[in-house]
Amino acid sequence: MTDRGRQLAYLQRMGIEAWVRRAPPAGVEAVAPDPAPDPVPTPVPVPAPGAATDTAAVATLDWDALRERVLGCRDCELHTSRTQAVFGVGNPDADWLVVGEAPGAEEDRRGEPFVGRAGQLLDAILRAAAQDRKTAYIANILKCRPPNNRDPNPDEISCCQGYLARQIALIRPRLILAVGRIAAQHLLATDLPIGRLRGRVHRWGEAAIPLVVTYHPAYLLRSPSEKRKVWQDLQLAMQCEREQVEVPMQ
Ligand code: URA
Repeated sequence: MTDRGRQLAYLQRMGIEAWVRRAPPAGVEAVAPDPAPDPVPTPVPVPAPGAATDTAAVATLDWDALRERVLGCRDCELHTSRTQAVFGVGNPDADWLVVGEAPGAEEDRRGEPFVGRAGQLLDAILRAAAQDRKTAYIANILKCRPPNNRDPNPDEISCCQGYLARQIALIRPRLILAVGRIAAQHLLATDLPIGRLRGRVHRWGEAAIPLVVTYHPAYLLRSPSEKRKVWQDLQLAMQCEREQVEVPMQ
């Protein structure tokens, strides 16, 4: 099967009817697609000082030490109700970093992000972008499950943000895909609604890593008609990654 054929099959599994470009009629020149919109610079979010987490110390940890630190973290109340902390899954050298909100019940039990029904849909979304759990890295804003899947509170986010920042620094992804409102608003330090954050390329941190926002798969399970927009977001993300120029390390 061709790459395009495979992609169409994945889209179908996501429940998206893909548009197939027809050959232009004889005598009509095909028009090249528009280039990706210029990245819109967004303010670099300045991490608030961690409530209890020693962010400066976390910023020096290597991958294994960071994982150990997260798995043993007791910096906020969530450690009292969790089964285990969920560090993340995937390739620590990934080009794509997917950031969700927080583990749910199934993730808390299994110690891996996005393993419930929403996770299956996320897998299908990733496959449509030629990514999977082995090529990409998947992590959450919060490493521990908030009871009853309530929204994370600011203290919890503040305790955890050094962990995600260190994961991003070590992975150095070429693209961050923020899935859902909570992840997008936190990463971009904004309270704009997700509808205003989609559809453009943001930048994250001092390394100005391109960041694209899309809907959370749990939302898509409730509102399947929005899946088409996720396909648009993926196309933007793929285009943005393709057009990136390698910047040599200093
Ligand atoms: N939702 C998320 O945002 N993250 C998970 O790991 C699971 C569900």
